[in-house]
Amino acid sequence: MTPNADFNLTEHDAVLGLGSNVGSEQEKLSALRMACDHLAAHPAIRIVARSSVYRTPPWGETAQPEFLNAAVRICTRLQTTELLGVVKSIERLVGRVPTYRWGPRVIDIDILLYDRFSYDTPDLTVPHRHLLERPFACLPALEVAPDVRLPSGLLLREAASELMQTARLDRVANL
Ligand code: AMP
Repeated sequence: MTPNADFNLTEHDAVLGLGSNVGSEQEKLSALRMACDHLAAHPAIRIVARSSVYRTPPWGETAQPEFLNAAVRICTRLQTTELLGVVKSIERLVGRVPTYRWGPRVIDIDILLYDRFSYDTPDLTVPHRHLLERPFACLPALEVAPDVRLPSGLLLREAASELMQTARLDRVANL
């Protein structure tokens, strides 16, 4: 088997962050669950853990409705840029339309972590650039991947411990 063929069969461990803040709480929850269904239906993605769903205040642009956030841990044969393409197309399928930066969104899917891989291009930064600043990303990520390490080798729970001490997120549902 050639090294390339072998790479395509390799499964990667990734954590995706999901968010929604358009419509009623039930509509936000439906958007998160619909995104999960699309992820689970993809032939190169297997969902291995789903976090709880949390109600969280808006971050960055604060004059907008509160979010529901969650995370899933997946095994995938997709490489990082392929995975980004898939999550962007699922965002469109679930009904996302472009707004302004950090504005309201029917669904947002971020690649929070991908193996212990570090990648930085104009289109994609992994680990996610704001992971360690966002309790709504860290808490669900830790729920699905309590043992996960950052590319530096540090455990995510150690890197996020100070942030998590002040975080107040309401758990509202299962994903
Ligand atoms: P967003 O508004 O959160 O959907 O993100 C806007 C853009 O951020 C996307 O179109 C991506 O090109 C870029 N981006 C950079 N890093 C990431 C990442 N880790 N996960 C998802 N999108 C990312």
